[in-house]
Formats: sequence, C-alpha cells, structure tokens
Amino acid sequence: MTEHQKPLPPISPDTKEFWEGLRRHQLLIQRCQDCGTYRHYPRPMCHNCNSMNGQWVKVRGRGKVYSWIVSHHTVHPAFPTPYLVAIVELEEGVRMITNLVDTSPDEVYIGMPVEVFFEDVTEEITLPLFKPIDKGSRRT
Ligand SMILES: [Zn+2]
Repeated sequence: MTEHQKPLPPISPDTKEFWEGLRRHQLLIQRCQDCGTYRHYPRPMCHNCNSMNGQWVKVRGRGKVYSWIVSHHTVHPAFPTPYLVAIVELEEGVRMITNLVDTSPDEVYIGMPVEVFFEDVTEEITLPLFKPIDKGSRRT
C-alpha cells in the first residue's frame, strides 16, 4: 500500500462502524430495530419512525445504478478526469454515492447491475467502490 495522495473522508462517531466494516471488507448499513427501515448515510435516528434504536447489518453489496455522471472538470489534482460518479441503489433500497470502475461512460446505464468491491487506500480507510456484475447482461 503506497501513500495515498487523495483527500480522505473524515471518520465521525456516527460513521465509525461503517469505516471499520469496510476495513474488514464488509459493507455495513444501519437498520432500525423498531421498524426495520434501512438508512444510509449513517445517522443516529430512523427517518421513518424517529427511533434511536439502530443496528449495523452486513449487506451483500449488490445493487443497480440509480444515476450517474461523468466528471470532466478537474477539482483536485489527485482526481484525474474523466471519472464516473454514481448513485447506486442497493438491494436494501438505500442509495450510496460512489465511483464506478471497471466500466466506461459508453457502457454504463441506469439500472446496470453493480456490486461493491473494496479499495484499501490507507491503514485506516478502505473505500467502497462499485463495478458491473456482468457486462454481458445489458438489457435494451
Ligand atoms: Zn424506524
């Protein structure tokens, strides 16, 4: 693992378990213990029933592209353009902002089946990125 030059996400008390799961190559999502609603980004309260009783559950990390863009504008020298930014909707219904890799703007489409993979960037931070599950399964 080389020294990582990109800005890294801050770890807060609300997100600590999320990042610790990623270090173990597990995608953890919060779920309300009272009504069962999943939520992401991590936060203390259920948006459905206002319960403070939450738990972390390991999810499979599969979903589909909900929306995506190609960034052509360099906002930081550590992020060479173009790159794909996507909102991925997991099977559990929550949406995550992420980068799509192992694909190109010519291939990606809304509804594309994707799965998480884990990029270890420092001792502390592993990023959840997404890639196509099966490039050959594109529906028209
Ligand atoms: Zn709830």
